[in-house]
Amino acid sequence: MKRVLITGAAGFLGSHLCDRFIKEGFYVIGMDNLITGDLKNIEHLFKQENFEFYHHDVTKFVHVPGKLDYILHFASPASPIDYLKIPIQTLKVGALGTHNLLGLAKEKDARILIASTSEVYGDPLVHPQSEDYYGNVSTIGPRGVYDEAKRFMESITMAYHRFHGLDTRIVRIFNTYGPRMRLNDGRVIPAFIGQALRGEDLTIFGDGLQTRSFCYVDDQVEGIYRLLMSKEHLPVNIGNPDEITIKDFAEEIIKLTGTGQKVVYKPLPQDDPMQRQPDISKAKEVLDWEPKVEREEGMRITYEYFKSLSSEELYKKEH
Ligand code: NAD
Ligand code: UDP
Repeated sequence: MKRVLITGAAGFLGSHLCDRFIKEGFYVIGMDNLITGDLKNIEHLFKQENFEFYHHDVTKFVHVPGKLDYILHFASPASPIDYLKIPIQTLKVGALGTHNLLGLAKEKDARILIASTSEVYGDPLVHPQSEDYYGNVSTIGPRGVYDEAKRFMESITMAYHRFHGLDTRIVRIFNTYGPRMRLNDGRVIPAFIGQALRGEDLTIFGDGLQTRSFCYVDDQVEGIYRLLMSKEHLPVNIGNPDEITIKDFAEEIIKLTGTGQKVVYKPLPQDDPMQRQPDISKAKEVLDWEPKVEREEGMRITYEYFKSLSSEELYKKEH
């Protein structure tokens, strides 16, 4: 049985990856320190014989007994309010955590895939963003702790590939959504749906003309799986190019939830990228991958998930 280590396993993407690898017949070792994740995302896996969980902070030395065939490094705060709240941990998990996992991959002779992000392009001056764009990131701005950690992560991964011949993969993930996102993580989809469910106004930051392109989680997981199994060691964008302004997206959510909420305008956070859309030509060519789930369908499933949460979760204040 092939064995895979997934860090960030109790988080949104990590838990969906655990499900996928279990379904593919792997032995899955999940690892997480639960700083932004939740065990309830993986508790359904605890009864599986081919799943085990380590409660561990990957910025500390990582030890896993036995062989490992694959490592997927997904541990990291991922929402802007999370990484603004825990900036040092964010830098550490991208830098020290990645170093530890590359070392583990080298020791185990395992293939490693690291979760990078569209944030490496910063507030992009090129549109849509393809993998050969170097990006426009402020090193010292508040988002720099995340963006630069991820850029370092890519650099050290390429150094291990070139210097040690390590078998590496780099995925640049664009905004992804779906069930198991944390209702209060501040990202726009849980924020808007939570506000609609609580009968609050939807908060648009800035003039709402900034754009994002949202990818449903099943499509994202399929792209990551294909990349891991491919031979491509250079970065690949995985995302859905269907771009929308935040203002129009708020209107879509008001329609979806049928709550008739109003929108209110709040200041735009510093360095908030004005536009974002993945160029996925490379993923199409090397992975024969493209997203299949339309936003309408993905958002309907996501809304059902958030609606099913308890009112205690709905009113929990984290920030
Ligand atoms: P998430 O917050 O739901 O999951 C991250 C998980 O990592 C959490 O369970 C958290 O507890 C864990 N973690 C954080 N620091 C850790 C540490 N030091 N040791 C062990 N575990 C730690 O976020 P997500 O959306 O699932 O993102 C997962 C990965 O994908 C992140 O690396 C993120 O940067 C990347 N990513 C996500 C998106 C997206 O749209 N969801 C976009 C780009 C990149
Ligand atoms: N946003 C917003 N209202 C909110 C939360 C977010 O208008 O309540 C905006 C945010 O300023 C950004 C976009 O929605 O322009 C996407 O934000 P998110 O935090 O989801 O992701 P990221 O900025 O990392 O793409």
